[in-house]
Amino acid sequence: MSFASLNLIPPLLRALEGAGYEHPTPIQASAIPAMLAGRDVMACAQTGTGKTAAFLLPTLQRLEERRARPGRGPRALVLTPTRELATQVKDAASLYAKELRHLQLGTIVGGVPYPAQQKLLMRPLDVLVATPGRFLDHMERGRVDFTRLEIVILDEADRMLDMGFLADVERIMAAMPATRQTVMFSATFEGSIATLAGRLLKDPERIRIAPTEAHNAKIAQHVHYVSDVTQKKAMLLALLNEAPVGQAIVFTGTKHGADRLATAIGHSGHAAAALHGDMRQGARNRTLAQFRAGAVRVLVATDVAARGIDVAAISHVFNYDLPRSAEDYVHRIGRTGRAGQSGQAVSFATRAERGAVKRIERFTGQPIAALAVAGFPVTEPLADGEAGPASAGRGRPQRAGDRNRPGRPRDGQGAQGGFARRRPVDAARAR
Ligand code: AMP
Repeated sequence: MSFASLNLIPPLLRALEGAGYEHPTPIQASAIPAMLAGRDVMACAQTGTGKTAAFLLPTLQRLEERRARPGRGPRALVLTPTRELATQVKDAASLYAKELRHLQLGTIVGGVPYPAQQKLLMRPLDVLVATPGRFLDHMERGRVDFTRLEIVILDEADRMLDMGFLADVERIMAAMPATRQTVMFSATFEGSIATLAGRLLKDPERIRIAPTEAHNAKIAQHVHYVSDVTQKKAMLLALLNEAPVGQAIVFTGTKHGADRLATAIGHSGHAAAALHGDMRQGARNRTLAQFRAGAVRVLVATDVAARGIDVAAISHVFNYDLPRSAEDYVHRIGRTGRAGQSGQAVSFATRAERGAVKRIERFTGQPIAALAVAGFPVTEPLADGEAGPASAGRGRPQRAGDRNRPGRPRDGQGAQGGFARRRPVDAARAR
């Protein structure tokens, strides 16, 4: 498929050619036609899928094709959770708008002086990219005119909510003209995000894109088979003790489990904290802030609580309990390998959970190497269809079919990564 077949106008096609984009990504192929048709859109897509161009290209085209009302203020508003993302989105907009007649772009973010922003808001703007807190600040001082507003985009909406911006976003949205087109991008559409989407979007086109392989390319994935929960905990503590650098998120299946495990990790000498939905928002924010600042090294979290956490220093994600779905697995491991860093995703599974591991491998299309941990007996996964006793027998030969997937690590994986001193299951058995 080509960008031209999405009915993008020639100046945008020229800019895309200049940027070296040859084909639309799946999110672009789905979101661009829907937005060009004027639909509200609710898109589930992570960073790395090309989501920014997916909402900017149709936005720029609609602005270009429609006559602007006279007056001041933005015609399109993009809300982002962070200053860094706001800058990235604005830079992307300048790149795609390069061949369009002087479109006016601007950003309004916190941490910078007010006067220049006040001036910006006095002018007619085409695309304004803003963080919710500072934008609301200007709004409440009566400095934002929404009469020209046509399109609103909430980018990384899940992160905005994680960061406590829900009330700000709701107040901003309540001030907008009802005739606007509303578009929401989020890595997840569960819980409070779904509720917010239900309130803000009118009959949206729903788009869901599985994270691309490229997104996880920098994440090495391993599984350690364990005989029981006691061994699992001992193995996790051993791996944490060996880590030279980095921060880790450990996922548990229950909130109670997260509390208990955080306490156990704390007792073993690591700065650890739990993060889950039973905690008050203030406590969650404080824990997250401590994690971001590096004061907490190991965060023990449930799936929902950890959604959208974006900390570049996370070198390891541990699936202490396997996730309920393969999609959750992808969300979990996406907490590492961010900002161009490489990451390690380490899962623990009992022999009987082999099927769940295989389902994840099928979903992602990537093998998860089974590795042994030095000092622990090797627990082999059950072969397909085998019921077997609960405890593992050492030395049972692995079936030939198991040798390639998932039992064998990809080249070099056994040796790389921080929390190591591990070796492939086969090698461990050969000793
Ligand atoms: P995003 O998911 O919006 O953060 O985009 C991830 C990266 O992919 C950015 O560096 C974009 O410049 C790049 N990108 C977006 N769309 C395409 C495309 N169709 N072809 C090639 N690169 C792209």
